Amino acid sequence: TKITNHLPTAELQALDAAHHMHPFTDDAALARKGARIITRGKGVWLTDSDGHEIIDGMAGLWCVNIGYGRRELAEVAARQMEELCYYNTFFQTSHVPAIALAAKIAQLAPGDLNHVFYAGSGSEANDTNIRLVRRYWDVKGQPQRKVIISRKNAYHGSTMGGASLGGMSGMHAQGGLPIPDIVHINQPYWWGEGGDMTPEEFGIARARELEQKIQEIGADRVAAFIAEPIQGAGGVIVPPETYWPEIQRICDEYGILLIADEVITGFGRTGNWFGSQTMGIRPHIMTIAKGLSSGYAPIGGSIICNEVYRTVAESGEDFNHGYTYSGHPVASAVALRNLEIIEDEGIIDHVRNVAHPYLAEKWKGLTEHPLVGEAQLVGLMGSIALTPDKERRARFAAEPGTVGYRCRERCFANDLIMRHVGDRMIIAPALVIRPEEIDILIERAWKSLDECY
Ligand code: PLP
Repeated sequence: TKITNHLPTAELQALDAAHHMHPFTDDAALARKGARIITRGKGVWLTDSDGHEIIDGMAGLWCVNIGYGRRELAEVAARQMEELCYYNTFFQTSHVPAIALAAKIAQLAPGDLNHVFYAGSGSEANDTNIRLVRRYWDVKGQPQRKVIISRKNAYHGSTMGGASLGGMSGMHAQGGLPIPDIVHINQPYWWGEGGDMTPEEFGIARARELEQKIQEIGADRVAAFIAEPIQGAGGVIVPPETYWPEIQRICDEYGILLIADEVITGFGRTGNWFGSQTMGIRPHIMTIAKGLSSGYAPIGGSIICNEVYRTVAESGEDFNHGYTYSGHPVASAVALRNLEIIEDEGIIDHVRNVAHPYLAEKWKGLTEHPLVGEAQLVGLMGSIALTPDKERRARFAAEPGTVGYRCRERCFANDLIMRHVGDRMIIAPALVIRPEEIDILIERAWKSLDECY
């Protein structure tokens, strides 16, 4: 029989368990309980194979920025597939979708971030960044500058390069990671790690760890610092206000390249086109993916400033790096139309208007729940910290079965998708979410919190 949405859920689950190995999953445990099968999406809503209407508080994996079910993007993809389904951009050729998208990205990106190197995903783009910054320093005559400094609990992808840049201890434990010349400093997570310091003091202290690390390694050996403007997968951790200005100062002072991983924060999520604008930083390179195509097609890339681009491009040699799907025509055409929709529909203004004060007030209101310590929100990415003792900012253990897991399970059962990371619950809904949908999201979040208290 043909496998379609019309098969009963149990049959789909059995087939899924038999043949599909899931990412970031205890697959045997999932097989015992059966995956939830998602069949359709529209706006911020998903439907599952049992007909439940689920509000997706995570825009898929922080990516469906313009919402599900846009026919126009399907039409753009179909037209592009007919006209030119694929051609490479390696060997002295180019094509209109790749050109038009690069020009659009360069127009949107701040400063002199004028050049785009395409990848198929955020992980691949960060692999590109490792190669690119090392190549840059080679061409500059400083080949000893190899070290990239990142942060613990950062997420930069799941390839060997991306996972090495990332600071997820669970990932490092399984794969002989990180690869050489990548080191990690502490994250600016005040609620969890700030101790007796004020957020302002803590922001400075954690930023200065970058300076200490540079001095320890030797400034002439450090190639770059990479960070998410706001940590996403680590738990939507908004750094104290003092953090980024100090990081910027240190990068400037030591001549270190700054890479902003904008895979989540790019394309409107924080109320500006890029999180770097929201946080007031001037990166040399940005990593992009996810919202670039709103998840309608897999595509990522690096946006590169003039200096880094020119140095590498004018070295007189090939940059020996690229992917079959760098600048894939269908993905590029879809991404371009997605960016036009964000512009034409004023979606970034909508993010600002709906986030503040509407969502912000309700989100903050969650701290009245006995389980919720702090609530953080920038644009449409938010987090709450679950705590057994608000006064002491105490933390629940992060093992399976503890309150974060229970809370996620209760959300799931209440037809709300909200992720948990250790003791934090997070949201990043589609940017088109409406006030009445925010009400539903908050109502279901309260109910779920009540049920795991
Ligand atoms: N960088 C950041 C900040 C991310 O959040 C992610 C994915 O969640 C990645 C990189 C990796 O992107 P991908 O999963 O497309 O490889």
